[in-house]
Amino acid sequence: MLKIQNYINGELVPPTGNQYLDNYDPARGKVYSYIPDSDEKDVETAVAAAKEAFPAWSVTPKDIRSKYLLKIASLIEENLEKLAKAESIDNGKPLHLAKTVDIPRAAANFHFYGTGILHYSAHSHSMEDTAVNYTLRHPVGVAGCISPWNLPLYLFSWKIAPALAAGCTVVAKPSEVTPMTAFLLSEICIQAGLPKGVLNIVHGLGHKVGSAITSNKDIPVISFTGGTKTGAEIARVAAPMFKKLSLELGGKNPNIIFADCDYEKMLATTMHSSFANQGQICLCGSRIFIERPLYEKFKTDFVERTKKLSIGDPFGEKTKIGAVVSKSHMEKILSYVELAKEEGGTVLCGGKKVDVGGEFSEGYYLEPTIIEGLAYNCRTNQEEIFGPVVTIMPFDTEEEVLMYANSTIYGLASTVWTENLTRAHRVAADIHSGIVWVNCWLLRDLRTPFGGVKSSGVGREGGFEAIEFFTEPKNVCIKLK
Ligand code: NAD
Repeated sequence: MLKIQNYINGELVPPTGNQYLDNYDPARGKVYSYIPDSDEKDVETAVAAAKEAFPAWSVTPKDIRSKYLLKIASLIEENLEKLAKAESIDNGKPLHLAKTVDIPRAAANFHFYGTGILHYSAHSHSMEDTAVNYTLRHPVGVAGCISPWNLPLYLFSWKIAPALAAGCTVVAKPSEVTPMTAFLLSEICIQAGLPKGVLNIVHGLGHKVGSAITSNKDIPVISFTGGTKTGAEIARVAAPMFKKLSLELGGKNPNIIFADCDYEKMLATTMHSSFANQGQICLCGSRIFIERPLYEKFKTDFVERTKKLSIGDPFGEKTKIGAVVSKSHMEKILSYVELAKEEGGTVLCGGKKVDVGGEFSEGYYLEPTIIEGLAYNCRTNQEEIFGPVVTIMPFDTEEEVLMYANSTIYGLASTVWTENLTRAHRVAADIHSGIVWVNCWLLRDLRTPFGGVKSSGVGREGGFEAIEFFTEPKNVCIKLK
């Protein structure tokens, strides 16, 4: 069985302690490869390599750094099929999704920052004839990048690409639950000839590798995506060390549907925003609020379409719902369905584990689930479930629905469906979230800032914001007379 290796100082190496963890294929519920159970020593070796590489990489001309990133982007594109299959097996997601979203977007991240760095310019400010100020931006140093399992290569590259473009060297840790595409990325980096030590990938557990990255004194900047609880722990460790932090955390996103919406478009998109990747996209809308005149019609159609979603082999051409990522995650999701029932909810469809049979009978498959009849402030409607479970609820007024939407500790993303232009702008302005999609979902322009408010995170990724995050400004003030 394949043993994944760390990528340190330009080479694929085993973990120092030579210990490995099981890596599961969630569609079959079986171990299919091993992942390094690395520890602090591996992180120290990776940091030493990144530190040594930093002086040269940080002054490597932008156009050369750009060429490496573009080469990596094109190698990802050339290996799309292989990477998509690896990601689908590792994560349980439908192959189609990995092929059309995850992997192309990972290539796009390298492409965007490979070209973006060429166009990035710092500011200058003239004080008329007294002085001129200009801002230099220097790469911060060795960046720590820690990512989750739901969009493995996409989110991993979303951090690594701007860090490398900005001139930082990197020590990165993918999720131990989905390590395979990060491993394939290390092979791609070797093929691209990326100078040794510029990117280092250390595999392993969060409380060992992740916390060793967070607490390492030679890593001054950390970009993290994952759960809110983990983000709080990282902030607790990193804040007294005055590290630069970007935290992209959990969500409980509202999907607000007004009766005047374009119904067919709304329904088709709501199917995706509810159940794409088995609901395991941080941007999925898990609380659906429907204006009362449309409620019954929406409920009937939504339930009917949801029941038709085909569940099974992630490689199946018609599969819409693959496996959830792990046994423990499946159990967590099921426990929330039980909680919803205890809280007075009615399960309109789904709610159970599915045996899809054959070689997949041990896989972690769940029926897509719709629940109604819950109070907006019950635990099911306040806590992140991160699975194929949504609640639906009617509302009467804009004021009421905004109160529901803004009632959680989270504020990552939201969706609004209406054909009323002024209402669209008004509601978008009043929702407490970092992203508002009006009449669409998951459309991303990489130039725009990305991230959440409240317990969904601090800092913004995306666009030139990310280049600014991985660099620090120095103002030079020159007196003219
Ligand atoms: P997680 O917080 O359990 O793990 C994320 C990463 O942090 C993993 O690599 C893990 O090994 C590491 N980690 C765990 N403990 C650590 C510690 N003490 N110190 C340092 N690193 C540690 O999250 P997950 O279960 O992998 O991912 C799901 C969560 O991610 C959900 O809450 C989801 O909403 C969130 N998410 C947010 C965004 C966003 O952009 N805001 C995007 C995707 C996922």
